[in-house]
Amino acid sequence: MRKPLLFSLVIALVMSSTQSVADKIVIAHRGASGYLPEHTLEAKAMAYGMGAHYIEQDVVMTKDDHLIVLHDITLDRTTDVDEQYPNRARDDGRYYAIDFTLEEIRGLKASEGFRLENGEKVQGYSNRFPMGSSFFRVATLEEEIQLIQGMNKSTGNDIGIYPEIKQPEFHRNEGKDISTAVVNLLKQYGYASKQDKVFVQTFSFAELEVIKNDILPAAGIDINLIQLIGSESSYPWMFEDDGMNILAEFADGIGPEKGLVINRLSSRGNLEISPLVDRAHAAGLQVHPYTYRMDPGQVPSYAEDFEDLLRLHYFEADVDGLFTDFPDRAVRFLQANQ
Ligand code: CA
Repeated sequence: MRKPLLFSLVIALVMSSTQSVADKIVIAHRGASGYLPEHTLEAKAMAYGMGAHYIEQDVVMTKDDHLIVLHDITLDRTTDVDEQYPNRARDDGRYYAIDFTLEEIRGLKASEGFRLENGEKVQGYSNRFPMGSSFFRVATLEEEIQLIQGMNKSTGNDIGIYPEIKQPEFHRNEGKDISTAVVNLLKQYGYASKQDKVFVQTFSFAELEVIKNDILPAAGIDINLIQLIGSESSYPWMFEDDGMNILAEFADGIGPEKGLVINRLSSRGNLEISPLVDRAHAAGLQVHPYTYRMDPGQVPSYAEDFEDLLRLHYFEADVDGLFTDFPDRAVRFLQANQ
């Protein structure tokens, strides 16, 4: 009896460890942002409860050097800054987070994203959480890490974080080294090796190089780095035959816009999958494209519906994970299909 049991245990262990490497992941894009205002702690708690494997933070810096979780370097689209501080816009009419202290930003009301049309605030996704309803605010990166680590403790899960350094060149021009501040905070909260559940992402290859070559060694840690890629024109060399091999010296994965994985002009019978995923995998890089949304008009016509879009990317294009505003749907999809 014992031998077969031990044998099957070993097999089970081997299988579960192999599986964990091959397992595909769901990254909650700005939290469960399809359901609650992006980047609020409420949206992050909801994403956690929905079973996302990683939860994303976009990070910008305040005037007094605090790291806050905000998608834009301006406060315009997601807060009532224009109502509370009408005289604090720059010449371009925008309210920059870097011109406000944390205390000032804490006093702002955060909401579902909107745009101005003829002076009126119009909600970006009309089907989402009502703009201006209830009460939300902007959180610091530290508060969010504490929230996720706190839930890891109380639930026994190990959900990861996925911070993006927003516009590092802008921050440097303003005299702030945001990447060093983020790396030091991650280190303080125990993220130190590639086994720890964190990916640091940025669109700037120049910044990625600095993080890899200078900032991480100075902090004495080595964590996973992701190069975001918005289009072929951002970095043409990355799309050449050896591009992914060169990138692999600095990054652990790529986060391409999803149209770079499956051409958005593809049709149902004729799916154009780019060689990017195969090249990245051959170079040892993971692939986590963005952003998968199920709002009206957001599912490309080559997919039958949102679940089909997930299937085509996870299993036809073979991506390792993806950023979605609807993490519950992607978690359920993987549970049913993996
Ligand atoms: Ca982001």
